[in-house]
Amino acid sequence: MKPVAIIGAMQQELAGLKQALQTPRTIMLGSRQVTSGTWHGHPVVLALSHIGKVAAATTATALIERFDVTDIVFTGVAGGLSPEVKVGDMVVATEFVQHDMDASPLFPPLEVPLYNRAHFPTDVRLTQSLKAAAQDILKNPGQWLDIEVLHELHVHSPKVHAGLVVSGDRFVSTSPESKALQQRLPKALAVEMEGAAVAQVCFDYGVPFGAVRTISDRADDSATHDFSKFIHEVAGRYSLALLGTWLGQR
Ligand code: SAH
Repeated sequence: MKPVAIIGAMQQELAGLKQALQTPRTIMLGSRQVTSGTWHGHPVVLALSHIGKVAAATTATALIERFDVTDIVFTGVAGGLSPEVKVGDMVVATEFVQHDMDASPLFPPLEVPLYNRAHFPTDVRLTQSLKAAAQDILKNPGQWLDIEVLHELHVHSPKVHAGLVVSGDRFVSTSPESKALQQRLPKALAVEMEGAAVAQVCFDYGVPFGAVRTISDRADDSATHDFSKFIHEVAGRYSLALLGTWLGQR
């Protein structure tokens, strides 16, 4: 049976998942660490992409070429952009844009040259099933996450959102930069640094792609502090709960 691929950018996001795999076997693909095994009876490959679009794109390509994966799911954290997207919420991506792509005036700003598009969709079925899993977790977050730690992070009733996520090779950590992004891309729910690159690779290969991000910060002046606390204390638990629930329901 062909495996499903799960990618995360940072070790903290994937540590719990790696421990959950049965019969894990780790290999290096280039400088990417990839662990294969089974989880809830499904063959899975877990890959640490590292940060940024190039790292994410090479990881996705290597997984497709080497493991012939059925689907790719990206998990991790992101900065909230839209005012209703708060720290502790989960965002399921329905489509991605590279917010730092600009080959104007040859092509319209944001359009990926020669693709005739700026927006890269995620797979509808995969996205629906990931959204259902995210909703299940946040219906009863105490079952999965440490409520006291969430309260310390001022997370009280986390919600699931679905929509546009934007990616670029920048950690967005000032209020003016966040505002400028919101003005340029008013539909964007969240910003991160990898998803749009994987969406483009999956578009090229015709591989279904889904992505869920937990909001670690608001991409504003306190983003650096909030991100660091979140990534150390809760990000891994969210990923573990999400992917475990999703695979269990698959
Ligand atoms: N100095 C940090 C860098 C993290 S980069 C460190 O190594 O500890 C941030 C990572 O989290 C990226 O993988 C990105 O996808 C995601 N992310 C979270 N908040 C973000 C934000 N405000 N802007 C861009 N990416 C963000």
